[in-house]
Amino acid sequence: MPTKKAKKKTVVELSRSSYTPYALTEGEEYMSNPQLEHFKAILLHWRQQLMEEVDSTLQLMQDEIYNLPDAADRATQEEEFSLELRTRDRERKLIRKINQALERIQKNDYGFCDSCGIEIGIRRLEARPTATLCIDCKTIEEIKEKQWGT
Ligand SMILES: [Zn+2]
Repeated sequence: MPTKKAKKKTVVELSRSSYTPYALTEGEEYMSNPQLEHFKAILLHWRQQLMEEVDSTLQLMQDEIYNLPDAADRATQEEEFSLELRTRDRERKLIRKINQALERIQKNDYGFCDSCGIEIGIRRLEARPTATLCIDCKTIEEIKEKQWGT
Protein backbone atom coordinates (compact mmCIF):
# COMPACT_ATOMS: atom_id res chain seq x y z
CA MET A 1 0.00 0.00 0.00
CA PRO A 2 1.24 3.47 -0.77
CA THR A 3 2.01 5.34 2.39
CA LYS A 4 1.89 8.90 1.14
CA LYS A 5 -1.21 10.33 -0.42
CA ALA A 6 -1.51 13.13 -2.90
CA LYS A 7 -1.97 16.33 -0.97
CA LYS A 8 -5.51 17.59 -0.85
CA LYS A 9 -4.85 21.14 0.20
CA THR A 10 -5.50 23.83 -2.36
CA VAL A 11 -4.96 27.52 -2.45
CA VAL A 12 -7.70 28.20 -4.95
CA GLU A 13 -9.29 30.27 -2.23
CA LEU A 14 -7.17 33.18 -1.19
CA SER A 15 -6.31 32.83 2.47
CA ARG A 16 -7.43 35.66 4.72
CA SER A 17 -4.16 35.67 6.60
CA SER A 18 -2.09 36.45 3.52
CA TYR A 19 -2.81 40.17 3.57
CA THR A 20 -3.64 43.01 5.92
CA PRO A 21 -6.85 44.87 5.01
CA TYR A 22 -6.01 48.18 3.43
CA ALA A 23 -6.32 51.16 5.74
CA LEU A 24 -7.68 54.16 3.88
CA THR A 25 -6.31 57.55 4.74
CA GLU A 26 -8.76 60.41 4.96
CA GLY A 27 -9.84 61.80 1.63
CA GLU A 28 -7.92 59.15 -0.22
CA GLU A 29 -8.95 58.64 -3.79
CA TYR A 30 -10.22 55.24 -4.96
CA MET A 31 -7.45 53.17 -6.56
CA SER A 32 -4.69 55.52 -5.52
CA ASN A 33 -1.14 54.30 -6.09
CA PRO A 34 -0.74 52.79 -2.60
CA GLN A 35 -3.99 50.88 -3.16
CA LEU A 36 -2.81 49.58 -6.52
CA GLU A 37 0.46 48.51 -4.88
CA HIS A 38 -1.53 46.78 -2.15
CA PHE A 39 -3.51 44.72 -4.65
CA LYS A 40 -0.47 44.02 -6.76
CA ALA A 41 1.25 42.53 -3.71
CA ILE A 42 -1.78 40.37 -2.88
CA LEU A 43 -2.05 39.11 -6.46
CA LEU A 44 1.67 38.36 -6.79
CA HIS A 45 1.73 36.49 -3.51
CA TRP A 46 -1.33 34.46 -4.47
CA ARG A 47 0.04 33.62 -7.90
CA GLN A 48 3.29 32.47 -6.32
CA GLN A 49 1.41 30.14 -3.98
CA LEU A 50 -0.62 28.69 -6.84
CA MET A 51 2.39 28.10 -9.05
CA GLU A 52 4.29 26.37 -6.29
CA GLU A 53 1.35 24.11 -5.66
CA VAL A 54 0.90 23.17 -9.30
CA ASP A 55 4.60 22.23 -9.48
CA SER A 56 4.73 20.24 -6.28
CA THR A 57 1.58 18.24 -7.04
CA LEU A 58 2.72 17.25 -10.49
CA GLN A 59 6.02 16.08 -9.05
CA LEU A 60 4.28 14.14 -6.31
CA MET A 61 1.94 12.46 -8.80
CA GLN A 62 4.79 11.30 -10.98
CA ASP A 63 6.65 9.86 -8.02
CA GLU A 64 3.60 8.02 -6.81
CA ILE A 65 2.62 6.42 -10.07
CA TYR A 66 6.06 4.86 -10.46
CA ASN A 67 5.96 3.48 -6.97
CA LEU A 68 2.83 1.38 -7.43
CA PRO A 69 3.64 -2.15 -8.58
CA ASP A 70 0.04 -3.33 -8.73
CA ALA A 71 -2.14 -2.48 -11.77
CA ALA A 72 -5.34 -2.16 -9.70
CA ASP A 73 -3.66 0.23 -7.34
CA ARG A 74 -2.47 2.23 -10.28
CA ALA A 75 -6.00 2.45 -11.69
CA THR A 76 -7.36 3.76 -8.40
CA GLN A 77 -4.51 6.18 -8.20
CA GLU A 78 -5.10 7.42 -11.72
CA GLU A 79 -8.72 8.14 -10.88
CA GLU A 80 -7.62 10.18 -7.93
CA PHE A 81 -5.17 11.99 -10.14
CA SER A 82 -7.77 12.95 -12.69
CA LEU A 83 -9.63 14.74 -9.90
CA GLU A 84 -6.40 16.33 -8.88
CA LEU A 85 -5.77 17.42 -12.45
CA ARG A 86 -9.13 19.13 -12.61
CA THR A 87 -8.13 21.14 -9.57
CA ARG A 88 -4.85 21.99 -11.30
CA ASP A 89 -6.85 23.11 -14.29
CA ARG A 90 -8.87 25.48 -12.10
CA GLU A 91 -5.65 26.78 -10.67
CA ARG A 92 -4.18 27.45 -14.08
CA LYS A 93 -7.31 29.37 -15.06
CA LEU A 94 -7.02 31.31 -11.85
CA ILE A 95 -3.39 32.14 -12.60
CA ARG A 96 -4.56 33.49 -15.94
CA LYS A 97 -7.14 35.69 -14.19
CA ILE A 98 -4.49 36.91 -11.77
CA ASN A 99 -2.28 37.85 -14.71
CA GLN A 100 -5.14 39.78 -16.28
CA ALA A 101 -5.75 41.60 -13.00
CA LEU A 102 -2.05 42.49 -12.81
CA GLU A 103 -2.21 43.86 -16.36
CA ARG A 104 -5.15 46.01 -15.39
CA ILE A 105 -3.22 47.37 -12.43
CA GLN A 106 -0.41 48.26 -14.81
CA LYS A 107 -2.83 50.06 -17.14
CA ASN A 108 -4.51 51.83 -14.22
CA ASP A 109 -7.73 50.12 -15.13
CA TYR A 110 -8.09 48.00 -12.01
CA GLY A 111 -10.98 48.08 -9.56
CA PHE A 112 -13.80 49.22 -11.82
CA CYS A 113 -16.72 47.12 -13.02
CA ASP A 114 -16.33 45.84 -16.58
CA SER A 115 -20.02 46.04 -17.17
CA CYS A 116 -21.23 49.29 -15.64
CA GLY A 117 -17.99 51.07 -14.78
CA ILE A 118 -18.62 51.75 -11.09
CA GLU A 119 -16.09 51.12 -8.33
CA ILE A 120 -15.93 47.46 -7.35
CA GLY A 121 -14.85 48.43 -3.84
CA ILE A 122 -11.75 47.74 -1.81
CA ARG A 123 -13.27 45.17 0.54
CA ARG A 124 -14.80 43.17 -2.31
CA LEU A 125 -11.48 43.24 -4.16
CA GLU A 126 -9.63 42.08 -1.08
CA ALA A 127 -11.93 39.09 -0.88
CA ARG A 128 -11.74 38.52 -4.66
CA PRO A 129 -8.76 40.34 -6.13
CA THR A 130 -9.58 38.99 -9.60
CA ALA A 131 -13.13 40.40 -9.61
CA THR A 132 -13.97 42.34 -12.76
CA LEU A 133 -17.60 43.02 -11.95
CA CYS A 134 -19.31 44.91 -9.16
CA ILE A 135 -21.54 42.89 -6.86
CA ASP A 136 -24.75 43.88 -8.71
CA CYS A 137 -23.46 42.97 -12.17
CA LYS A 138 -22.00 39.75 -10.79
CA THR A 139 -25.37 38.79 -9.33
CA ILE A 140 -27.11 39.46 -12.64
CA GLU A 141 -24.48 37.42 -14.46
CA GLU A 142 -24.97 34.50 -12.11
CA ILE A 143 -28.74 34.56 -12.62
CA LYS A 144 -28.23 34.54 -16.39
CA GLU A 145 -25.76 31.66 -16.14
CA LYS A 146 -28.26 29.65 -14.17
CA GLN A 147 -31.00 30.32 -16.71
CA TRP A 148 -28.94 29.48 -19.76
CA GLY A 149 -26.89 26.79 -18.08
CA THR A 150 -23.60 28.01 -19.45
ZN1 LIG B 1 -21.34 46.75 -12.43
